[in-house]
Amino acid sequence: MRWTQTIIPTLKETPAEAEIVSHKLLLRAGLIRKLTGGLYTFMPLGLRALRKVEQIVREEMNRAGALEVLMPALQPPEIWQRSGRYETAQDVLFKVRDRAKKEWVLGPTHEEVITTLVAGEISSYRQMPKNFYQIQTKFRDEIRPRFGLMRAKEFIMKDAYSFDATDAGAQDSYRKMYDAYTRIFQRCGLKTIPVEADTGVMGGKFSHEFMVPAETGENEVAYCDGCGYAANVEKATSQVTRVTGEAASALPEKFATPGVLTIEALSQAPYQVPAERQIKTLVYMAESKLVLILMRGDDQLNEAKLAGALGTGMFRPGEPGEIFAALGAHPGSLGAVTSTLKNSGWTIYADERLKDAVGMTTGANEDGFHLRNISIARDIQVNTWSDLRLVQAGEPCPKCGQPLKVRRAIEVGHVFKLGTKYSQALDALFLDESGKQQPAVMGCYGIGVTRTLQAVIEQSHDEQGIVWPVSVAPYTVCITPLNVAPDSPVMKLAEKIYAELAAAGIDAILDDRNERPGFKFKDSELVGFPIRVGIGEKSLAKGEVEIKPRAGAMTAVKAEEAVSAVQALVRAGLTA
Ligand code: ATP
Ligand code: MG
Repeated sequence: MRWTQTIIPTLKETPAEAEIVSHKLLLRAGLIRKLTGGLYTFMPLGLRALRKVEQIVREEMNRAGALEVLMPALQPPEIWQRSGRYETAQDVLFKVRDRAKKEWVLGPTHEEVITTLVAGEISSYRQMPKNFYQIQTKFRDEIRPRFGLMRAKEFIMKDAYSFDATDAGAQDSYRKMYDAYTRIFQRCGLKTIPVEADTGVMGGKFSHEFMVPAETGENEVAYCDGCGYAANVEKATSQVTRVTGEAASALPEKFATPGVLTIEALSQAPYQVPAERQIKTLVYMAESKLVLILMRGDDQLNEAKLAGALGTGMFRPGEPGEIFAALGAHPGSLGAVTSTLKNSGWTIYADERLKDAVGMTTGANEDGFHLRNISIARDIQVNTWSDLRLVQAGEPCPKCGQPLKVRRAIEVGHVFKLGTKYSQALDALFLDESGKQQPAVMGCYGIGVTRTLQAVIEQSHDEQGIVWPVSVAPYTVCITPLNVAPDSPVMKLAEKIYAELAAAGIDAILDDRNERPGFKFKDSELVGFPIRVGIGEKSLAKGEVEIKPRAGAMTAVKAEEAVSAVQALVRAGLTA
């Protein structure tokens, strides 16, 4: 490609809309353009890089034995009603109406479609295992689309779905995808860490997310340098101690705490109740019922774990009015002590750390009053004990006890072992070896292809611009002649090298713009081509050209060795 024939609208200034470096560079390098929030056009070079990521994904999925299909993005809501996700996924579902006013759904993911397909096509254990994948546009009504391609309303995902006759088979399919993902991200030049993940609204047995460590990531990962434990904080646990103390015989005692509304305030003089001796009472509306959630005063509630305990993702914090009507007090004075609850019939969830806690202080369900000497087992009727805490950096690793670290990361891929939730709901049944009808055991596996592309930039850039790995660069080589007059020896050599690279199967762009060298160099560094071949009159007089890896030092090579020098660099890049 010749630079003047394509369009690479590089920008000197950073558009104000971009907050994170990869988004700034995508715009500045002219790779994408915004239509409106969360919707982007891929410009020719951005699309080339995207296609390279897609191709890596495709090759590795094929290698792992998955079968490429292409499903409709437009889906009937009925299959979402059957799976139960018409409600649980309503936050992200885009809905449209046709001319007959019938409603349709724009697919945010395709479990319902593929399971419907398999229900019709697979009826025997002999036809399994099967793993279907596609690379396709997804639609999600994100609350906060941001960071360019990272969180868009419309994005490209590779989604795969495995169907097995046995649980052991499903485990095997999962492992194959896990390994394929490891290879895919490696080939894209991305350093990822696989972490244990929450299964959330997808349902399912267990899952891993592939995370790119980055300060700008929207996830937090807890990890241990000692044993390699790593988990999304939504899921992470630690070895925490319980509240210990002598079994108290003292009875609950009410005391006045005027104006005290926080754990912090109660820990100060004159009360001086340490946070770990306080019970924090939270009120949540789960589906349409208020529930109480108890945490130790110095712990934070982890809503992903709460979803697991509640068995639904449909919950929100209670509103002050609702809370007052139900408990007779405002937040700050709430508690779950049986004798202070106006109504019976509360469902009370408590964090495991509070089990057997004695000598605790909590709200009295009367504004301005608290109760001390609370012994959980005696005074509170907990219905469900669960791990509900958010782990904190420094807590002991659940596996080996070394202090956990917490860092931010970008989720680029996600593998789930689903079980039979969807196959049961959508009748993907088969006859097993003994002729018995069974639901297929499923797994699902997603890669955010567009997000992965941006994550590469987030991880690989410098002051000057993007530093593409060879595997996903829009063009591997940028040939930069410093004289573009067609008859000049410089331009003639540039053309010759350009043709030879093409013949060697290396994609190159020829910067044939009649611009100052500095200007051209700046642009090629901003766009981030892995290798630049600079040809100027001075070096050519010595029979040489300059070869500059984007992140390395410039070397002069004999003009006739330019192509083999580039090939050597590419080989090194591809195997790096
Ligand atoms: P997130 O937690 O970031 O919202 P998710 O867990 O809902 O993502 P999945 O359903 O696991 O996403 O989708 C598979 C992959 O699709 C994700 O790992 C991510 O790379 C990508 N992805 C999800 N939502 C978006 C989005 N709004 N824009 C771009 N990529 C996305
Ligand atoms: Mg996910």
